[in-house]
Amino acid sequence: MRVTVDGDRCQGHQMCGIAAPQVFGADDYGNSVVLITGDIPVELEAKVRRAEGNCPERAIHIHE
Ligand code: SF4
Repeated sequence: MRVTVDGDRCQGHQMCGIAAPQVFGADDYGNSVVLITGDIPVELEAKVRRAEGNCPERAIHIHE
């Protein structure tokens, strides 16, 4: 699994960072930054799926 954030959609709620702080950080504007650009460790996949499901802007995209 890999994950990306659509910067045009992201509004900086940071719900993703709460759900998976190991994977989602924030830039200077509070918008989401993916901290792991390669494969997401298996043990973090469930958190990433939760973040994707909870993103109000549908900005998180999972690639498998
Ligand atoms: S929850 Fe969605 S819109 Fe909010 S910061 Fe994370 S990716 Fe961006």
